[in-house]
Amino acid sequence: MKKYDIIVIGSGCGMIVVEAAAKKGWRAALVEDSHIGGTCLNTGCVPSKMIISPADAINEIARSKRLGVNASVDSIDFKKIVERAITTVIGYRNKLKRSVQRMEGVDLYEGVAKFTSDYVIDIAGEQITAPRIVIACGTHPFVPDKSMIGKEGFFTSDNLLNIKKLPERLIIAGGGYIACEYAHLFSSFGTQVVVLEKGDRLLDREETEVSRLVEKALGNSVEIYTQTKLEGVRKEGAEWIVNTVSIENGITNELRTGRVLMALGRSSNAESLNLHNTSVETDRKGFIIVDSYLETAVPGIYAIGDVNGKHMFRHAADYEAEIAFQNMLLADTKGSKKIKANYMAMPRAIFTRPQVAGVGLTESEAKKICNATSKTTYYNETVKGEAMQEREGFVKAICNCDNGQILGCHIAGPQASVLIQEVVNVMANNGTASAIKRCVHIHPALTEIVTLAFSKF
Ligand SMILES: Cc1cc2nc3c(=O)[nH]c(=O)nc-3n(C[C@H](O)[C@H](O)[C@H](O)COP(=O)(O)OP(=O)(O)OC[C@H]3O[C@@H](n4cnc5c(N)ncnc54)[C@H](O)[C@@H]3O)c2cc1C
Repeated sequence: MKKYDIIVIGSGCGMIVVEAAAKKGWRAALVEDSHIGGTCLNTGCVPSKMIISPADAINEIARSKRLGVNASVDSIDFKKIVERAITTVIGYRNKLKRSVQRMEGVDLYEGVAKFTSDYVIDIAGEQITAPRIVIACGTHPFVPDKSMIGKEGFFTSDNLLNIKKLPERLIIAGGGYIACEYAHLFSSFGTQVVVLEKGDRLLDREETEVSRLVEKALGNSVEIYTQTKLEGVRKEGAEWIVNTVSIENGITNELRTGRVLMALGRSSNAESLNLHNTSVETDRKGFIIVDSYLETAVPGIYAIGDVNGKHMFRHAADYEAEIAFQNMLLADTKGSKKIKANYMAMPRAIFTRPQVAGVGLTESEAKKICNATSKTTYYNETVKGEAMQEREGFVKAICNCDNGQILGCHIAGPQASVLIQEVVNVMANNGTASAIKRCVHIHPALTEIVTLAFSKF
């Protein structure tokens, strides 16, 4: 059996660990059962944002009328837009694979990793072992009826790039961030989009005001049904029949479409690992249980990224990769204390209409733990926001009234994913509202909205 210093399962955030291990001079095995680069590169962040950028451009053109610019979109080359996304993904993927192949001391195993015991992994009959194992095997789209997968016109985020033609009509099941991003994208291109969400609002992990603004902005071109549960989908000829039931009054409905997109959440890939042969534990949804050092119940075995079910974003996964690697090094150093993962300043962004970003607690979460209050500033309270005629976008700042500590911030509007970063940086350094106020901000720039929101404390 081949022995390594470390085995990494999954080449998404797992790549960070592999690179660090190679730099350290460890013999490393990387096991990957699909395309190198993981979800973010192949079916997640990268391709979706490649296609959302043109959708954003279309919306900007449509909105430019309010500034006195009468422009319109002549046509959309959907094939070219998708091809650009595919080419970019393939380019990044090839580059990544070449870099793995060039790494000193790293072996790439292309196959499914299955544990045979705590520190032994089998890949198609070949067994390898290491005292340190990092499980970074991610998640896959949850599909209630798996027999639908692969059928013409049935999509998840995994196969959406296979869509050859812009659909005339698309029903999206789910109202989370993937659903909202794709609803924005396809409706901007002219597809008739229907979104079905069983909760009472879209993006239910965000502040209610954020959900309401997204519902309003998307609602101009998307049919949104909240409190609507998906009962089932079936194919009849070339059409998909989507059955729903209203949670409010039990009324059933039958919708017809050529294309359906399942965006009902993500399931753990841990099921593929044969963890029953180990003492690694999972929760009832199959996500791997880790302690605050990201270590599983088995010493030396860590679980990072989506598979631990904590914060399912690529930047969170990369942060965890750094923490886990540091902790493996510290475990080797007598008397050193390991580092706890700290999610206080973990941001998130949703590239829908309008863009959404957030960090920290919501107002109601904050009020449960301290004397918290919130202040909201609208984009057009600043010169730049007014220049853009941005009337509805806002920044909601949440602080502890007793000491000014920043507890959270929620932004809905242009460049939200960029504006949130200042708050993240200050929160990561335990900063207060005055830390933002004290810094000089460029006038007149959108960043003044954040300053203004925190100046109100
Ligand atoms: C449509 C979409 C859009 C997204 N947009 C964003 C965004 O804008 N920003 C953001 O931060 N996040 C975004 N995400 C989330 C982000 O992609 C994930 O949080 C991130 O990729 C998780 O990284 P990971 O390393 O934990 O897992 P993954 O990237 O999923 O990597 C896991 C890898 O392990 C492999 N694997 C699984 N089981 C085994 C096994 N038994 N043996 C060997 N290999 C195995 C898988 O094939 C996969 O390649 C998006 C996700 C989707 C689906």
